[in-house]
Amino acid sequence: MKLTVIGCGYLGATHAACMAELGHDVLGVDVNPDKVARLSSGEVPFFEPGLGDILRRNISAGGLSFTTEADAAAAHGSVHFIGVGTPQRARGHAADTSYVESAVDALVPHLRGDHLIVGKSTVPVGTAASLARRISTLTAPDATVDLAWNPEFLREGYAVEDTLRPDRLVIGTDPDSDARAARAVLRDVYREIIDTGLPVIETDWSTAELVKVSANAFLATKISFINAISELCEIVGADVSTLADAIGHDKRIGRRFLNAGLGFGGGCLPKDIRAFEARAEELGAHGALRFLREVDTINMRRRSAMVELIAQVCPRELLGANIAVLGAAFKPESDDVRDSPALSVAGQLALRGASVTVFDPKANANSQRMYPMLGYADSAAEAAQDADVVAIATEWAQFVHMAPSELDPVVRSRVIVDGRRCLDPQSWRRAGWSYAALGGAVAT
Ligand code: NAD
Repeated sequence: MKLTVIGCGYLGATHAACMAELGHDVLGVDVNPDKVARLSSGEVPFFEPGLGDILRRNISAGGLSFTTEADAAAAHGSVHFIGVGTPQRARGHAADTSYVESAVDALVPHLRGDHLIVGKSTVPVGTAASLARRISTLTAPDATVDLAWNPEFLREGYAVEDTLRPDRLVIGTDPDSDARAARAVLRDVYREIIDTGLPVIETDWSTAELVKVSANAFLATKISFINAISELCEIVGADVSTLADAIGHDKRIGRRFLNAGLGFGGGCLPKDIRAFEARAEELGAHGALRFLREVDTINMRRRSAMVELIAQVCPRELLGANIAVLGAAFKPESDDVRDSPALSVAGQLALRGASVTVFDPKANANSQRMYPMLGYADSAAEAAQDADVVAIATEWAQFVHMAPSELDPVVRSRVIVDGRRCLDPQSWRRAGWSYAALGGAVAT
């Protein structure tokens, strides 16, 4: 099938390459000429394991190309995925859906014949319905344009795997019209994946929109739940990691997303829970999602708690101390620093007068653009040069498996703060380090 993917960021570039991998002829469209040039030459403009190979293979095979021209999308195919950004608005917590609207405005007037637009971006409930009205005013007399919502659940770092082998597929269609045609088109697009036995949930637009934000709200709540418990554990000296293991054995609870520590960040969870609560208030469900504010507050409090813990264990005042922050991406296997807890901690330490050196295996360049006032190093050992405290802020495998002997010769003081509770405290203590974990004691 001939498909287009409009918006080629983390979501769109992955979707475009994976759809080509499934055998479709895909054109990716993005307004950013630099991104289009890099993708066209087979270069992924961000770090995503496995994506480069799929991108280059499908470009070479002729099934994948990129352009900045919206009218080229209209000419290319009849199914158009929209994966543009929906960031938090500059003022307030609501989502900014203007990029989705611009994408539709640029595409629809060029369409002739039968087309299906498929929203993949995460949007406030009601967006599809208002977009459908917008589409109808832009549609040429000799065109019919249908709209479906097919939210995306991929995780950065596992984006290829999640796109080609998702847990489920959600297809939302117009509740007031016969949705059979749109559903059939999407079932054809995903045929190869569906045939593996994947659950397909066919529903209306609103439910599809809500599934995505509800899933993110649930995950964020789970993380903040364990972090709230960790605040209590800190006071009584209990081990929140053991507690999480114990409650996680209960199949109704599950162990995943129960890792206490520095909390969540990135381009999705924080802005999605804020937009969700804001939308609930707009719709008159006053207070229904107020708890998400508390989830957000607990999460943000972890960042200042980490700064306080570092200040507490630092052998000298923070003002003038050297702090190595290991990790800058909001999570491992990603170079995404949007709303990164690691960088928030690094920034707060710098504001308190510490001399902060950051090292991230993949996100140094993105961090430098966002926080140019911090120091950057090319390795953990370089960041830890003369450090008074080494702080683990993102649980990259190379930090988890780092031997204390790698840092011994370079640090000023053997003090490590484990913001992700991912190190083996025994091995650090045996090597003569003072080890502290965010969230309190770690049973040994
Ligand atoms: P991103 O910022 O990486 O990418 C967005 C892209 O859209 C950019 O390349 C931008 O240049 C492009 N764009 C903006 N306006 C455009 C227009 N009018 N026409 C064409 N291109 C345009 O964002 P992202 O992380 O890929 O997220 C995109 C959407 O997917 C968001 O709604 C997000 O919430 C959702 N989502 C993201 C993830 C994730 O892990 N990143 C997962 C699931 C859902």
